[in-house]
Amino acid sequence: CIILAIETSCDETGVAIVKNRHILSNIVASQIDIHRRYGGVVPEVASRQHLEVINICLEQAFTESQLSWEEIDGIAVTVAPGLMGSLLVGLTTAKTLAMIHNKPLLGIHHLEGHIYASYLSDPQLEPPFLCLLVSGGHTSLIAVRDCGDYTLLGNTRDDAVGEAFDKTARLLGLGYPGGPAIDRAAAAGNPFAYSLPEGKVSHPDGGYYAYEFSFSGLKTAVSRLVKQLEAQGELPVNDLAASFQETVARSLSERTIACALEYNLNPIVVGGGVAANRTLREKLQQKGQEKGLTIHFPPMKLCTDNAAMIACAGVQHYQRGQYSSLTLSATSRLPLNEAMSLYA
Ligand code: ATP
Ligand code: MG
Ligand code: FE
Repeated sequence: CIILAIETSCDETGVAIVKNRHILSNIVASQIDIHRRYGGVVPEVASRQHLEVINICLEQAFTESQLSWEEIDGIAVTVAPGLMGSLLVGLTTAKTLAMIHNKPLLGIHHLEGHIYASYLSDPQLEPPFLCLLVSGGHTSLIAVRDCGDYTLLGNTRDDAVGEAFDKTARLLGLGYPGGPAIDRAAAAGNPFAYSLPEGKVSHPDGGYYAYEFSFSGLKTAVSRLVKQLEAQGELPVNDLAASFQETVARSLSERTIACALEYNLNPIVVGGGVAANRTLREKLQQKGQEKGLTIHFPPMKLCTDNAAMIACAGVQHYQRGQYSSLTLSATSRLPLNEAMSLYA
């Protein structure tokens, strides 16, 4: 089937057309340059900008794919979670198009998009699998037993890992967005220059939770180290970036592998913006190989927000006849295990 998708949950306006697992067009209008001067996403600015460019993105998606509306089977759109004003621009556009062209509407949970991004480079991948979801707002281990059947096995107790990258980059003066900046700086640094704490979450009965994450302590440790080193002279930014990245990648990959083994889930599918991180990719790949586990990553440019991954999730629901009502509303927060509530 051929699905057109719209993604406007945060600061990327995305429109894509996907045929099963094959991308026919994937337009992403990033607002990074607009939000950079504020050091983060400004919600009011984001929604206004989506409105500004959405129609141009739609036109481009059709031009690039050389398709017409008759060939589109359904319209997928991100409805949760995300910035309310931004989500509404995409949802209102999608509903209008669904009505005009008489196509089924498929409301998509944004995290389902990140989970299925790897399908776009792998025609064989199917549940069950373990998903490590690492993005700007989430850090979770999810058992995916079927499309729509998600069990949370681990989560962060404080910052999301993408957020930790962004905050640490700011501490190191590396600018916005922080993930790619740290990744680049780290390539020129020594990952073992500094020993940083791997955040662990204490269990009330003693010991630690095996699959829970915590990144706020790590960020505080970097902050303290930065102050101390700055007092001594020039900041060894590359070494600090490399040491931070090493610590994060180790904590993520060790827990992910242990979780996959305990729950007997293979392969492991990684999704979200931080899946683009080179050290994380290397470490997981290597540790997975040692344990006989297969690791799937999305193609680099499909890790961060895009509409192709939303279309890919849309294909899954369309094929199961799961359509949404035209009265569907956007939700800024929605747990992943309630994703099926989006279908009538
Ligand atoms: P969510 O999906 O949880 O709602 P989001 O959509 O804002 O959040 P994504 O677009 O999936 O998040 O990812 C953005 C995050 O990924 C940012 O925090 C960014 O710093 C991080 N990121 C991007 N590239 C890299 C990289 N190479 N290394 C580490 N982090 C990265
Ligand atoms: Mg983004
Ligand atoms: Fe995202």
